[in-house]
Amino acid sequence: MAVGPWEVVEAPAIPPNAVRSTPLPLRGIAPRGGGKKLAWALQTAPEQVRFFEEYTQQAYPFDKLDLLGAPDFSAGAMENAGLIIYRDAYLLADADSPADKFRGVYNINAHEIAHQWYGDLVTVPWWDDIWLNEAYATWAQAKASLAMKPEYHTDLSALEGRVWAMKSDSLLSTRKVRQPINGEGDIQTAFDGITYQKGAAVLAMFERWVGEERFRAGMRDYLAKRKFGSGSSDDLIATLSAASGKGEHFAKAMRSFLDQPGVPLVQTTLSCRSGKARLDLHQQRYLPYGVMAGESSTWDVPVCVRFGRGKTMDSQCFLLDKADASFDVEGSCPDWYLPNADARGYYRFEMDKPDLARLAAAVSSLAPVEQMTYADALSSAFHRGTLPPGTLLEAVPLLAGSELPQVATALLGDLEWIRENLTDAGVRGQLDAWIAQIYMLRLEQLGWRRQKGEAESVTNLRTRLAELLAMTMRWAPARAPLATQGRQALGLGKEKGVDLSRADPDLLDLALKIAVQEGGETAYAAALTAFEAERDTARRYALLGALGSTRDTVLAARARDYGLGKAVQIGEMRYLYSSQMDEPENREASWNWLSRNFDAYRQRLSPFAQSGLPRSFSTGACSNEDAERVSAFIAPRVDSLIGGDRGLAQTLESIRQCAALRKHIDHSAFGEWVAARGSN
Ligand SMILES: [Zn+2]
Repeated sequence: MAVGPWEVVEAPAIPPNAVRSTPLPLRGIAPRGGGKKLAWALQTAPEQVRFFEEYTQQAYPFDKLDLLGAPDFSAGAMENAGLIIYRDAYLLADADSPADKFRGVYNINAHEIAHQWYGDLVTVPWWDDIWLNEAYATWAQAKASLAMKPEYHTDLSALEGRVWAMKSDSLLSTRKVRQPINGEGDIQTAFDGITYQKGAAVLAMFERWVGEERFRAGMRDYLAKRKFGSGSSDDLIATLSAASGKGEHFAKAMRSFLDQPGVPLVQTTLSCRSGKARLDLHQQRYLPYGVMAGESSTWDVPVCVRFGRGKTMDSQCFLLDKADASFDVEGSCPDWYLPNADARGYYRFEMDKPDLARLAAAVSSLAPVEQMTYADALSSAFHRGTLPPGTLLEAVPLLAGSELPQVATALLGDLEWIRENLTDAGVRGQLDAWIAQIYMLRLEQLGWRRQKGEAESVTNLRTRLAELLAMTMRWAPARAPLATQGRQALGLGKEKGVDLSRADPDLLDLALKIAVQEGGETAYAAALTAFEAERDTARRYALLGALGSTRDTVLAARARDYGLGKAVQIGEMRYLYSSQMDEPENREASWNWLSRNFDAYRQRLSPFAQSGLPRSFSTGACSNEDAERVSAFIAPRVDSLIGGDRGLAQTLESIRQCAALRKHIDHSAFGEWVAARGSN
């Protein structure tokens, strides 16, 4: 039930089809005055319903479909049967919205609609199987989106999600996909990257291994047997096993990924003798530099390998079900190979050095997802301390030319880490000049505004590059055009009065931040007035981010206090505080502020958000002293945060990992590497 004032928009009913015999009524519901912004969700929901009906061979299971956007709804969205409730900013879009808003609405809608089958038609008996609902919806959303909106390149964003999940899965304090539930904290922290992205990645990996058709047959069978009831992980595994044609191997392999934490690291060596190739594989748990696990783990990993011979490529899968195994490669000896074909495997890999060099030479012939998995192999070696930072960065220009934002920026997370943790002011200046050489011209060519009819990937690349150059690097030539847009939006340019549509919608967040950072008290006051008058949730987020981003000590202190006031809604707070923490100058003062205002801050957090508190105030922390300080303050208060013990353990482990790697790397050798780039 939802209590308004609402505006209800009736869309045409979704016509019957081969699976469903009656029309399905469809409505959108927005806060009054926002009805027009439902058009995109209502226009695209019918094709998603049809897609899932065809995939599952089950008619949409309820009498109607209502999509409702509610202000300050605490989760992103909730798949109530027949009445899906979204945070309004995630459902509403119009011509002034950023391009990625349309993609975002499409994807979240596909996720929630997929839940009408997995989650609602069949649910789970208990919380320890909640991954079934979320992993399915995440995996199915990517499938639907890839089929119907190929221009969104959802395979690439799904892979970004997987890489992100693998990073948290590299912590010793990570959860299992199927984590026992011992209290409310385990429930509230179950909605993380392990449940969604790792769970979806495991489904995608096994789908590739057994083939799409067999997998779909199993999925259909599972729903047909359990509809209007519930099913556990064991039920799903048994049904998929039966359909897989792989017998008990399937069940054992899938369980090895669900019932133990961590990511496998597959180490590979190829040897050739009289034209025939043999591939030696070794597996162990992937752990970053300095981390030791108490016990050794192994998985049953379907390792699918891409082989290149001249201009032809093929792939072959091997089941690695012990620590070490050797396999014969079909066909002649390959010129190169990639140990994760189609990037569908949930594992990281490390290749013998000559093998890696041959792969590096073939990177441009790989599919975009495979280029990203190559980047992840470099990144994982860097975090294990086996690949020097300079060698990692040498791959940046190889990928930077890609048309696809996910590929072109695949190593930027590591580049930012290196920049922040390994450089002093002198080296940083030289490094920035090198980065700007790679990316600045590209950004200028893309221009500072979205063009009519522009591909979404172009818009997305512009936003990512502007974020890197203008915000992270504070590169003056990238900041100037954005500062102008921000001032115009706030009415500080030639035209008076606030009008946020004067800035490019995709660059609005950045433009407002830069205008506030550079505009002192006047710009801060203008953004504050605009925030208090603004009713559109997405624009409120942008304005709060701008207030939080000020680096003026007096204004920053004012912003922190403002975040606890009534004008800022509970779900909006994090936009202000995260943008505070993004600016290194603000971190010390923010931490001190938290230590004085912990109770007031905590009380305003939803149950979902509480376990994230230690991490939110630890951005950039990378020393053992930092870890001690966070621990000394939070540990005595951890019981007051739902799921706080897990949130704290993961935060401390991340900080200590960062510190260990920073200490391990030879800073002066890296300084020389940077200096050599500068003189080229
Ligand atoms: Zn979900």
